[in-house]
Amino acid sequence: MSKPVIATASLAGCFGCHMSILDIDERILDLVELVEFNKSPVDDIKTFTKPVDVGIIEGGCSNSENVEVLRAFRKNCKILISLGECAIMGGLPAMRNGIPVRECLEEAYHRCPTIDPFDPKIIPDDPDLPIILDRVYPLHEIVKIDAFLPGCPPSADLIWKALTSLLQGKPLVLPYALVKFD
Ligand code: SF4
Repeated sequence: MSKPVIATASLAGCFGCHMSILDIDERILDLVELVEFNKSPVDDIKTFTKPVDVGIIEGGCSNSENVEVLRAFRKNCKILISLGECAIMGGLPAMRNGIPVRECLEEAYHRCPTIDPFDPKIIPDDPDLPIILDRVYPLHEIVKIDAFLPGCPPSADLIWKALTSLLQGKPLVLPYALVKFD
């Protein structure tokens, strides 16, 4: 019998949410028995090779490539999960929201204290580079999201509970202890 298929991606995130997926410790052995990973940094598969049951995305959308990857996940995944605060609300990268993009780029490439003052101050504009968006967008503002797992990062227990419920076709009921952060 074929196993349910999972895919994951990190957009404008720090990979901390992916670290939390790996933090399920020895349950990773159960997970490998339960599911098959498709496109994901976990197995380094770069493109979708089959329809996916559960897609998990960390990070919001900060540039045009993030949007492209997110739309590909929506197209290929039956269930799509927003994992962590960056995916749900934009998180830390969204601190740039409200500051014009030009000003952000000048701060990074012209005024940053670690820049060599004798280097030519160039803002990269190669046509192959993704275009920076006017602000960082949470995922649900761009595609339909089926489940939200909060936290920075969400705990390994929360991810395990959510995944096992969804894979068994059960409603996603998250115990309060797993979504309380004080
Ligand atoms: S939610 Fe936190 S851990 Fe996850 S990608 Fe954002 S900053 Fe990193």
